[in-house]
Amino acid sequence: MNKDIKKIYEVDASQLKGSALDVVSPTNTEEVRRIITQTKNIVIRGAGTGLAGGCVPQHGSDVVLDMSKMDKISELDKERRTIEIEAGVILDDLQDYLSDFNLEFPVKPSSHAVVTIGGMIATDAVGNRAIKYRKTSDWIKWIEIIDSFGKVEKRGITELSDYSGMEGISGVIMRACLKLSPLKKRTATLLEVDNLDDVTSVVRKLKKNSAVSMIEFFDKEISKELGFDEHYHLIVEYEDDSGELKDKEYKKLLALRDKIYPFVADKGYTRIEDPKIMLDRFVKLMSWLESKNIPTFGHIGVGILHPCFNHEQEKYISEMMKLVKRLSGQISGEHGVGILKKEFVEMNDKKILINVKKRTDPLNKFNVGKVI
Ligand SMILES: Cc1cc2nc3c(=O)[nH]c(=O)nc-3n(C[C@H](O)[C@H](O)[C@H](O)COP(=O)(O)OP(=O)(O)OC[C@H]3O[C@@H](n4cnc5c(N)ncnc54)[C@H](O)[C@@H]3O)c2cc1C
Repeated sequence: MNKDIKKIYEVDASQLKGSALDVVSPTNTEEVRRIITQTKNIVIRGAGTGLAGGCVPQHGSDVVLDMSKMDKISELDKERRTIEIEAGVILDDLQDYLSDFNLEFPVKPSSHAVVTIGGMIATDAVGNRAIKYRKTSDWIKWIEIIDSFGKVEKRGITELSDYSGMEGISGVIMRACLKLSPLKKRTATLLEVDNLDDVTSVVRKLKKNSAVSMIEFFDKEISKELGFDEHYHLIVEYEDDSGELKDKEYKKLLALRDKIYPFVADKGYTRIEDPKIMLDRFVKLMSWLESKNIPTFGHIGVGILHPCFNHEQEKYISEMMKLVKRLSGQISGEHGVGILKKEFVEMNDKKILINVKKRTDPLNKFNVGKVI
């Protein structure tokens, strides 16, 4: 493989760089089986939008299994509202296909334009509409996987947790049957809020409204950079007509929201974290982040925040993780552990993950050195 192309596969959106022995891009199950049986160390890659280094090859000894060419959409069951697809299908391509049938896959990470369904299942991706539609695993009927011996098997809901959220350490997700939801007409309102306590009480009230499908938070710094006044802001999305912004205006606001990641990265804030905390602890965490000048946005409706650290501020990450744990929060609400957050995983969680790994990947082939 051309050296420059290989380099693309040696990094993910976290900008963590590794080195690969080779990159392979199979187009069918038989090819994947052959690669698995003939290869010692495999790192599975979807679109590479991960923010924890989960698909970054290491030590020059990993072969990158690029799943992006496994992208067939088949078997739409309109009555049951399910669809069978391959793991490399891009979420927005699926949405385009489904919109002709007035259906959608309702979990929407901000990386929706490029993210693969396999990557979403492996990280159990959450997203902007988690307040209403929770996470990817809630919308899966079954998956088809290949284990380290090259055996193809179906896994239903009861065995899903061995793969969903396991970040590829247990096997390759090949296909999935997804549950779908009717396509909704949505509107939104941009709210300006003066202080952090008010943010908490506004969010608490909004969460009681069943038409609300998204509550996104921006601190003063991010608001200013987005061209809003220097206050806190919330984007509130409704699945009815209550939002002030409709049609084009609504789409414009959501497109602005999707631009935040590349935007903060351009400003040098390349380490984007994803702690999850309860709403009543939000002010404590935010006050600490503000004391360190760390710009923050996030899915406040479900307590996931995205503090953005520049290189100089990365020294504060372990302090933040300690605070998150003290506040009974989680170190990762959606991006996963990958390589970058391994050191913060609690011993008890590690033991559970090691047991899953031993049971599902006895040959220790997949994503070795990740998560545990
Ligand atoms: C701009 C931006 C916005 C984002 N917004 C969100 C958000 O709103 N919500 C959210 O949850 N995340 C978000 N993310 C993070 C990222 O998009 C998700 O983690 C996503 O699910 C990763 O999918 P991917 O296809 O890019 O997978 P990759 O980055 O290629 O891989 C991620 C992990 O999944 C494993 N994997 C990939 N495919 C398979 C497979 N077929 N079988 C087994 N394992 C596999 C990899 O080995 C790796 O461990 C964002 C990232 C960016 C850059």
